[in-house]
Order: sequence, then C-alpha cells, then structure tokens
Amino acid sequence: MSKIDHLKEIKISGVGASPGICIGKAYLVDREGVEVVEKYFIDEKKIEREKKRFRNAVRKARDELKAIIDNTPEEIRQHSNIFEIHVVLMKDKMLYGKTLDTIEKEHVNAEWALKTVVSNVRSIFRNMEDDYFKERASDIVHVTDRIMRNLVGAEMVSISDIDKRVILVAHDLSPTDTSQIQLERIKGFVTDRGGRASHTSIIARALEIPAILGLGNATDIIHNDEVIIVDGTTGVVIINPTEQSLIEYEERKNAYEEKKALIARTGRILAETTDGIRMQVMGNIELPEEVVSVIDYGGSGIGLYRTEFQYLSRPYFPSELELFEKYKDVVEIMSPKSVTIRTLDINGDKAVDYTAGSEEDNPALGLRAIRYCLRNPEIFKTQLRAILRATAFGNVRILFPLISNFEEIMEAKAILNGVAESLDKEGVPFKKDVEIGIMIEVPSAVIMADIMADAVDFFSIGTNDLIQYSLAIDRGNRQTAHLYQPFNPAIIRMIRHVSDVSKDKGIETYMCGEMAGDPIAIPILLGLGLSELSMNPQSIPVAKQMIRLLDSSEAKLFMKEVLKQTTAKEVMDLLQNTYGSLISDTIYSDQ
Ligand code: PEP
Ligand code: MG
Repeated sequence: MSKIDHLKEIKISGVGASPGICIGKAYLVDREGVEVVEKYFIDEKKIEREKKRFRNAVRKARDELKAIIDNTPEEIRQHSNIFEIHVVLMKDKMLYGKTLDTIEKEHVNAEWALKTVVSNVRSIFRNMEDDYFKERASDIVHVTDRIMRNLVGAEMVSISDIDKRVILVAHDLSPTDTSQIQLERIKGFVTDRGGRASHTSIIARALEIPAILGLGNATDIIHNDEVIIVDGTTGVVIINPTEQSLIEYEERKNAYEEKKALIARTGRILAETTDGIRMQVMGNIELPEEVVSVIDYGGSGIGLYRTEFQYLSRPYFPSELELFEKYKDVVEIMSPKSVTIRTLDINGDKAVDYTAGSEEDNPALGLRAIRYCLRNPEIFKTQLRAILRATAFGNVRILFPLISNFEEIMEAKAILNGVAESLDKEGVPFKKDVEIGIMIEVPSAVIMADIMADAVDFFSIGTNDLIQYSLAIDRGNRQTAHLYQPFNPAIIRMIRHVSDVSKDKGIETYMCGEMAGDPIAIPILLGLGLSELSMNPQSIPVAKQMIRLLDSSEAKLFMKEVLKQTTAKEVMDLLQNTYGSLISDTIYSDQ
C-alpha cells in the first residue's frame, strides 16, 4: 500500500498508554509478520517430516526467546514473566498440539496448519471478558509470528540493534519487542494496535517512556525519518509538526518533566488534607518485583497484590513453598507497612493447560476468582497456607475477590480456619489475628454490605468490576467504552452506601480499582470518607499531592451537591467547576 503523502501537519489520536512527550524522527519497524501463507497438501509419507519441520521451528523460536530472556536487563526482568508466557504458549496444547494434529489429519503444510489453529485460538481469547485474557490474544499473535518466521525463514527485525535516537512506529509491538528498547536510543513508540491494559503498555509505563497504542493506521500515515511529536498523556501524535507546534510541545515537554520530577520528590510527604485528615495512599502490584516502585513513589503499603499473575505465567500450579517465598519477600520488604494479598482472581483461562476445565460462554459471569477457589479447595488451601506463613514476617491482610454472596465469605473463612489449624498443629508460625477483607465489586455485595460487614474486617472497592457489573458494560469493549463511567451517579451512590454501612459497622472501606488513582475522583472519595486508596505506583505522588490540596469538610459538603446530579456528565462538570483549578496544579494539567 502506498503511503498518504503529506507536507502539512497532521494530528492523529490513539490510546495514551504511557504519559510524557517526546519529539524525534520516526523509525518504522515492520512487525506485521508473515502475511501471506500458502496452503499445500503433504503426501502421507512426508507427514512426519512436516511435523518435524514444525517442531524445529518452535524449538528455534523458543531458543530465540530464551536468549532474549537471558539478555534482558534486570530492570525489565521483573516483567520477564511475559516472555515466559510466550515460551509456555509455544508448547500450549491448543497451539502446538493442535497444529501437529492438523498437519496429520488434514495433510496440510505446517504454515497453513498453524495459521488455521491460531485464528481459532485467537478468537477464543478475544471473546473472553477479562482484559488480561484478551491481551493473551495478542501474545498468541506474537508467538505465532516468531514460529512462522522460522518456518518460512524470514528475518526478525531486532529492536535492540537500532542505533539512532528515534521514535518507533510499528503496526504492533509485543511485550518482548518493547523490553528490547534501549532507553538511550528509543525516545518513545506508537503502534496501530493494542490497548491500555496490554503488557506492552505496562512495560512502557515501567520504562517511563511516552507511548500511544491503538492508532489504527499510524504505519500507513507516518513516513520513515519524518519528525513526529508523541504526547503519551493525551494520546495525540503530531506528524510533520509546524515550527509553532514544535516550540509549543518542546515547552510542554520541559514543563511536564519538571513537574514530574518535582512531584516525584514529594512522594514521601504524607497525604494529609489541609484540615489534617490523613489518607493512606497505597500501590497495586502484580509481581513481587514491583514493590520497589511502590516504595520509590512513596506508597504507604500495598493495597492490592494481584496474585494471579504468578499462576498465569507458568505451565503448572506453583507450590506452597514457591508462593510463600514470594509473599514473604514482599511482606518483609514492606514491613511494617501493610500488604494486602488478594487471593487468586482467575477465570476459565485456556492459555495455561493446568487451569483448563470447561469452556465458558460467559466467562465474566463464570467460574472466576473466589468461585474458582471454592470449587478447587486444594489450590485455594495451598495459596492460603503460603499467605498465612508469610504473615509471620510483617503486616498482611487477606482479601477475597468477587464476593457475590454471604456464603462465599463463610466458606472461604472456613477453609482459611482449617488451614490455620493445620499450620498450628504442625507448629508453623503465623499471625492469628490477620485482617480479612472482601472486594466489593459485584452489586449484590453492595446491597448486602451491612450483613457482610459483620463477617469481615474491611472492604476494598474494586471499581473496575463494580462498574462493569453494575452498568452492564464490558470493561474491555471499545463500542461501549463511553458508557463505562466511574462518575455515573449509580456508582457514586454505591460507593457511598458501602462507605456509610462500613462506618456504622465500625470497619474501614478502601478502594483499589482504577478510579482510586484518578486525581479528579479524589474529592469524591475523600468526601465519601474512604480512608485508603490503592493505585498504580506511578500515580501515587499525584494522588498524594491532590489530597494535600483538599479540605475534607469542604469535600463532604461538595458530596451533597454531587448526589443531586443525575448524570455522569453533570458530576464531571461539577467536579471541574469546583476542583478544576486544583487539578490543573497536578501533573495532569495541560501545561
Ligand atoms: C477491580 O475490579 O476494580 C480490581 C481492582 O480488580 P481487577 O482489576 O484485578 O479485576
Ligand atoms: Mg476485579
């Protein structure tokens, strides 16, 4: 396809995946893979040879990946489980086994067999509700691309070989590609595909370079060596900028960087409102290694440790010892600050063989999280033993996800008590008075909060799922993204109800969904009396700064006005009119 010629400045927008601004020359990377795959039939006698050719291509692809893992710098290693997912996927029954079967049964060439199998597997993953599993669809594409290139003998472009100061422009970048980025050369990147929940964007944020994903046709519009401006905060790319835009964005970039450095330096300052109300601002982590950024950004603890990542990145269930060692590390490093360990929040994942059970038509409403654990008590007990053993090394809280009825709390607690008894008998040390909480992320839990409060020590509101289940909006569906509204009055009323009930019952309500890390939401959360917010570590300094600018009694009065509003837009307008000037003092301002 020939490129669109342009001499004038053009603006395109996508998903701002990692904030910040960079200005530089575009470097187009062809990551589209092997597009044209021919089909041909294989003679019965040559089937074994064809299967061997496929196995060799997979082996070569695995060796390449393993070499990448070995050469990955330490700071990126913390995310190397992503490459391990890729290594595991290569040998996954659905991909590997089915391709071999297809070659054998249909007498077709390996490339064709792989292509057909992959398109089926990909659609299974894409139809999964959970963003995490949806993202596995793109992991499958990256893995297949690598195997396919080995089958057809095509060369992979190596990002680590780029020796100029450039901005990468790619159709798609796998997490592996992204991890090869050398910070002294690559200023940022933009891609046609991908979304904010992808691992590629997680790594971009970990590297702290500007990135925009999901631009649709950036590789069609942008020419090699053309000057572009990438504003990862707003998701805007400016191609062939005018002199005026260059000056403007250079200024914005400097202002952003100054402000970021300034705010990061304030991370350690307490989050206390102007009238002396202290809020705890905590970090969410997926992997134990992320603890360092929670500490660096000034987090007062871990408000959500999403333990499922340790299960998803491997070919079999982790042992109690493996889990214990990881939990112990996190708990010891953070001690005496608290670490909220959420028990396994997994659904019917087919990417990892050992969790395979049944295919679900509607995984969002299926055997997920606590439901999965109660159905598989041995897996649950192994994790609970590891968590309880870790309690001896610091300050642990246990959090049960996706609670939708009272029995689930009772059953989960009964299993926990059983585990505690057996540890006691074995003479293994652990804390007896560990706090137990539940995620409030299903509307039935909101309605039953008064009853549930009697059975637990704290609530943690998971707005990501609460919004999805309350407003009936798939959190990963682009078509309905405009209806995914944290400021919908229904959501605000639910948070208020949970907070009020917990106060009556004398327990605390925390929040660990994405809403907690949005500085513009903080006046509402403070006004509703939430005492602890947990978020992506990088958001901590800004959230703390925002809290320091607020007055809690004003926020309470403001809430009265908020509750009179009838639409999300009205709430947002009210927020903007009342707190807009404070927001513009934070890093999110438009400079
Ligand atoms: C949530 O649902 O808000 C939450 C924090 O959990 P997760 O994003 O892991 O589903
Ligand atoms: Mg959730």
